[in-house]
Amino acid sequence: VTDTAARPRVVVIGAGFAGLNAAKGLRNAPVDVLVIDQHNYHTFQPLLYQVATAGLDAGDVAHQVRDVFRRQRNVRFRMGRVERVDWEAREVLLASGDGIGFDCLVVAAGAVYHDFGIPGVFDHGFVLKSLHEAIALRSHVLRQFERAAHDPAHADHGGLTFAIVGGGPTGVEMAGALVELLDRVLPSDYPELDVSRARVVLLEMAEALLLPYGERSRAYAERVLRRRGVDVRLGAAVAEVHADHVVLAGGERLATHTLIWAAGVRGHPLGEALGTPLGRGARVQVRSDLSLEDHPEAFVIGDMALASDPDRTPLPQVAQVAIQQGRHVARVIAARLRGEAGAPFRYQDPGQMAIIGRSAGVAELAPRLGGLRFGGFLGWLAWLFLHLIYLPGHQNRVNAFASWAYNFFTYDRHARLILDEERPRRARMTRGTMRS
Ligand SMILES: Cc1cc2nc3c(=O)[nH]c(=O)nc-3n(C[C@H](O)[C@H](O)[C@H](O)COP(=O)(O)OP(=O)(O)OC[C@H]3O[C@@H](n4cnc5c(N)ncnc54)[C@H](O)[C@@H]3O)c2cc1C
Repeated sequence: VTDTAARPRVVVIGAGFAGLNAAKGLRNAPVDVLVIDQHNYHTFQPLLYQVATAGLDAGDVAHQVRDVFRRQRNVRFRMGRVERVDWEAREVLLASGDGIGFDCLVVAAGAVYHDFGIPGVFDHGFVLKSLHEAIALRSHVLRQFERAAHDPAHADHGGLTFAIVGGGPTGVEMAGALVELLDRVLPSDYPELDVSRARVVLLEMAEALLLPYGERSRAYAERVLRRRGVDVRLGAAVAEVHADHVVLAGGERLATHTLIWAAGVRGHPLGEALGTPLGRGARVQVRSDLSLEDHPEAFVIGDMALASDPDRTPLPQVAQVAIQQGRHVARVIAARLRGEAGAPFRYQDPGQMAIIGRSAGVAELAPRLGGLRFGGFLGWLAWLFLHLIYLPGHQNRVNAFASWAYNFFTYDRHARLILDEERPRRARMTRGTMRS
């Protein structure tokens, strides 16, 4: 941070979990903060799958950035897409051509999906990173039923087969929510159609679901999904994706018009544009205080950053890491302004949780204190409770709670709207999603 007579300007790129928490943490620091994001809202990504499966409205999982900072006088917001950083001029360059000067920079643009070089993933598959993508997926799923309702042969050709690739938390949550939509909600919408022909196939390359979880949680997730009708295929790697089928390694052909890609992410391409060394998963290598070796006035945090535990294990790309890193960077900046060095970042792992579907979840909490595990209904409740706490915006919490209660008691999903025009898939992807 430069020592100027005016208050130093901290520019934060990205209003995700990391960026928002960095800006909030600077509330009492003698700095002016500018938050830049390509959207005028924060997206609560952990609940996107519920938008895609008609459980929540898009507006329930997003919150306007200007509203977040309504009461924080030292923060301003600029909507724009950052393309690169001019280190010499100390400017952030937007797609519009504007340059924005900074004294201190916090880069938190997140991650993008990784296709691992598999042909067709981004041409024909769906990903879940933005509201647009969640709405596109929901619209596409419902459109398959609209088509099959007047053309039953569509189901014969895989029109009602929904393939999810990736058995991590996102794939498992998506599979559980989708199978419930097909089983419990859509049959009464389509009396003219045999909806029982619809199926969900979950493809996982490894031999277990929820790999980072304990043995009991993994087995529980698999058991629940199978019992609810999901065709769980372990050891199944995707080799090619086409508009109306998927080819598995080994040659098997699965007819489907819907492939949902939940198989892994890599650091945002803005990391490459910074021109500093990248590590595993195209994440930016950072020092222990999360600043850059070549540019100590800049920090990279959240999904973009490759930070490690003291035992050198890379930290996972999850919301808690991003939140804690955002808060940490704010403390480092404040310390530097006082002429002190910033402390190294230490992740306090609160544990992990995933929902498998109605009344079924797994929560593995407080690993450092010996671990506390909930499965089943308690795991599901713990998940709902914690997501409500972290969902930004009072109205969003009220809406989400009301929708969950309503859905739980009525088996209804009110957001069954087709809002998106049919367009080539690639055009709908999060900007920055790219091939390896
Ligand atoms: C479907 C899904 C489900 C998930 N579920 C969970 C879960 O249950 N639990 C969990 O802990 N984690 C979950 N995660 C991971 C979690 O959401 C991420 O780890 C977290 O969002 C990372 O925060 P971040 O601030 O680094 O990035 P993000 O939250 O992705 O925020 C990045 C921000 O940068 C903005 N941006 C990107 N590029 C630019 C640009 N060029 N110019 C300007 N702005 C830009 C974006 O619009 C976005 O607002 C999930 C992720 C996904 C996709």
